[in-house]
Amino acid sequence: MTAPLRSVLDLSETIVAQATAPGRGALAIVRVSGPAAHTIARAVLSRWPDEPRTAVRANVRDAAGVELDQAVVVRYDAPASFTGEHAVEIVTHGGALVPTTVLAALIAQGARQAQPGEFTRRAVLNGKLDILQAEATGDLVAATSRAAQRVALHQLDGGLSRRVLALRDDLLALEALIAYDIDFPEEDDGPIPPARILAAADAVIGALEALQATARSGELVRDGALVVLAGAPNVGKSSLFNALLGQARAIVTDIPGTTRDAIEAVIDTPAVPLRLVDTAGLRATDDPVERLGVEVSTSYLARAAVVLACGDDQQTLALARDAVAGHSSAPMLLVRTKIDLSAQPAAHNGAIGVSAETGEGLGPLLEEIGRVLGASGGALEVDAPLLTHARQRYAVERALAEARAFREAWREGGIPAPVAAVHVRSAVSVLEDLVGAIEIEDVLDEVFRRFCVGK
Ligand code: GDP
Repeated sequence: MTAPLRSVLDLSETIVAQATAPGRGALAIVRVSGPAAHTIARAVLSRWPDEPRTAVRANVRDAAGVELDQAVVVRYDAPASFTGEHAVEIVTHGGALVPTTVLAALIAQGARQAQPGEFTRRAVLNGKLDILQAEATGDLVAATSRAAQRVALHQLDGGLSRRVLALRDDLLALEALIAYDIDFPEEDDGPIPPARILAAADAVIGALEALQATARSGELVRDGALVVLAGAPNVGKSSLFNALLGQARAIVTDIPGTTRDAIEAVIDTPAVPLRLVDTAGLRATDDPVERLGVEVSTSYLARAAVVLACGDDQQTLALARDAVAGHSSAPMLLVRTKIDLSAQPAAHNGAIGVSAETGEGLGPLLEEIGRVLGASGGALEVDAPLLTHARQRYAVERALAEARAFREAWREGGIPAPVAAVHVRSAVSVLEDLVGAIEIEDVLDEVFRRFCVGK
């Protein structure tokens, strides 16, 4: 074990950090937590709140009595705090200097600068949050889309934990059935019919599979759904791309670059973020550079969640549709561009009409993309607990593999029940680790590695 890890685990130390982002801002929050939090904070403050969870105004001074700031102070008494420890939040003025000098004054009084995620880690160690909720805290801060925000809040509320713990309870019930069978092996057919144990195993496997299936939605929420614009040059793809960005207004990231092959931007929609990709024209070409662009397009097409086959007349629409068909198995929407130039109605021959010029049809197109995404590969359940991290997905896969191994062993017989039952026990402990195994330090390290200092 490395030295910093040992100090991270030392709950007898009092930690301090600036919880707000550094830089120019109206206010900053300096957070202190640990057994000596009150004593240390009192030493630098001119006033101390009589009551926990009430704000008072106080001057902050360093050890030499030099005034550092006029701040607002809230004290928390253990265990009623985020970390479960004595804690103090000092709301200082923002900027580069003031919070840093306040932090230094607290360190001079005996607090230690916190490591990234250390406040949340203490909340876990003190039983205030389970690991999935701690992970959700990190996800919420990292969220760049409304879907990610919603999923993280749901997980912070314990939604995913409850679902995992319900599965663990089902496995424990299965284990109890098997134990009963082990205790009465000689009875005819046992007191528990073997078929009942199989049915219980099937049910828990089905529930684990359902949870595993949420990983796809989790991935879409985190990375966005890849929406690829395809079609011949000049049909208006780039204009549509820009118009959609303008229509969505909430642009998550804007990745300029590589005009020749593809440009990408992520826009936010209420369901999931969309990774819009404008590809190079899909026509065959002898120009080596442009061919490179076409190759990139096909690789995007192969990974697309939805393809928008664009054309500005019947002929280019058919061309786009045929070109895409060979390269993508994703649902395809036919998009008739430049309808402001056409006498035809907006929806015509199964195509959605849009105009980058007037904005007509853009809203319905975004709605249709959301509908198609929901319809392909299961509904987008962003309001239900989702697996959003590789760690979670891996744990559920392992629990599922153990549960299936048990079912196989049980069905085939020949393996003694206590041996088959080991698989169920393993599945239980995998799920327990997923939610809360605080003794597994490497899990904690993995979870808190990405945290900011002060959280
Ligand atoms: P791309 O090569 O498919 O990306 O096509 P562009 O977006 O560059 O558009 C080709 C031409 O069509 C440009 O001159 C655009 O101004 C024009 N254009 C694109 N969309 C529209 C539209 O909705 N209405 C009209 N009137 N012109 C458009």
